[in-house]
Amino acid sequence: MSNHHVYINGTWHKGNEEKRSIINPSNEQVITEINDASLQQTREAIEAARHAFQYTNWPADPSYRISVLRQLADLLEKDTEKFAYIETINTGKPIRESRLDVSDSVQCLRYYANFLEQRTMTEKKMADGTTSKIIAEPIGVCALIVPWNFPLLLGIWKIAPALAAGNTIVFKPSELTPLSLLELTKLIDSIGLPPGVFNLVPGGGSPVGETLVTHPHVEKISFTGGTKTGRWIYEQCAGSLKRVSLELGGKSPLLVFEDADLDNAVEWAMFASFLNQGEVCVAASRILVHEHLYDSFIDKLIKRLDSLHIGDPLDEKTEMGPLISSSHLEKVETYIQLGLQEGAVLLRGGERIKEQGYYLSPAVFVNIHQDMRIVQEEIFGPVITVQRFNNDKEAIELANDTIYGLAAGIFSRDLERAEQIARKLRAGTIWINSYHTPYVDAPWGGFKQSGIGRELGPQGFTAFTETKHVNISENGKPLGWYQ
Ligand code: NDP
Repeated sequence: MSNHHVYINGTWHKGNEEKRSIINPSNEQVITEINDASLQQTREAIEAARHAFQYTNWPADPSYRISVLRQLADLLEKDTEKFAYIETINTGKPIRESRLDVSDSVQCLRYYANFLEQRTMTEKKMADGTTSKIIAEPIGVCALIVPWNFPLLLGIWKIAPALAAGNTIVFKPSELTPLSLLELTKLIDSIGLPPGVFNLVPGGGSPVGETLVTHPHVEKISFTGGTKTGRWIYEQCAGSLKRVSLELGGKSPLLVFEDADLDNAVEWAMFASFLNQGEVCVAASRILVHEHLYDSFIDKLIKRLDSLHIGDPLDEKTEMGPLISSSHLEKVETYIQLGLQEGAVLLRGGERIKEQGYYLSPAVFVNIHQDMRIVQEEIFGPVITVQRFNNDKEAIELANDTIYGLAAGIFSRDLERAEQIARKLRAGTIWINSYHTPYVDAPWGGFKQSGIGRELGPQGFTAFTETKHVNISENGKPLGWYQ
């Protein structure tokens, strides 16, 4: 890879002198070294995006933006294997999951191209005979900031609607996982967008991320990451009333009712909890099981856990890879110790399982109290708690009793009852008898401290627009003050 990793105004630049090692979490080897964007380059990227928005032919007409999104989708699809490989060596996620991320990214680009094509402007005849047009306009310079768990997919969830709406972009990947975004930027470069429409500034939360958040010429922050960082960003944006979307953490419950198909529920619980090593914002980290099924649920869960394929994420059979970094592994281990100190019983897992790589066996805690920190705080790894409940009321109370509200799963054969329960759960996405699938045409985001705003679907587009009302009078006569 060339040593130019900063993309500003349509040109690649060398970043800081200092090099950052990008590590493969499955073997702890250095994949490559990156020169982060400097503070000065971050500011230049913002000015380039501002200039492109104000003085070039961008946002051009929608047909051009549609063709950009479709070209990018085609290029990405053609390079699926390459992107999946890069994502896997950089994040440690199993290769089959990386392919899904690429395919979901392609779908997202096509969805917003089609959305733009089918969109019609709202025009209304008003009561006084005038005509009103309601126009969705781009906001301007948008800073897009993503975490390390789904670098490409979460990046595309922002890039596609931001470009569709006609904004200009300064993008910051996580310092741990910039590789797929560097590769994506090469594809964007090859399409030949006007210089400055898309800019890439790899680097840490400080100074690159903080500069984006606090700079007066950035008009919108779209952030996915931890709740603590999200709160800080929200505070910074309050001063200037900068537009802000936050997709934050979660502590999502999966509820198994007494009439559920047990084998099915166990299989879904495994997937819901341990996909991407549990490093998923919507991961089902709290399993709530009706007491009639509880013992058999635990038996089956443990059997299934023992057959889980954990290992080299490039191996097609692998179901779970390593955690992202040694410091994150240590953080997750701290929670396992904390759970034991709090009096929970560790039924399985929570151990390092290879000499090389940040592997941890999935941990299952029982003997749980609702006020334990392992129940209330996001661990963001393969650690779950399994609790019993007696009736629907108790299940709902336990499910809703955290500061988070990102997602939930319900397992029951009675769909009418499941829908009633769904209405009472305080979360942005509820899956009934399934889990995890993000639908590109349905909104994604959180209640409570899991975020503000929604991505995907029409809502994801609206988040990158300002609404303008233009009222037209054919031959407006002066009203006079009191007529
Ligand atoms: P962080 O909040 O630490 O970081 C997220 C991104 O923000 C990274 O690019 C990071 O940069 C950057 N950042 C950190 N500090 C600042 C700052 N002060 N100003 C601007 N940018 C900053 O989260 P993690 O990367 O640790 O990701 C895990 C978290 O993300 C989890 O809590 C998870 O719940 C959440 N998440 C939410 C999702 C959702 O859809 N709701 C989806 C996926 C994850 P750098 O890493 O380079 O320091």
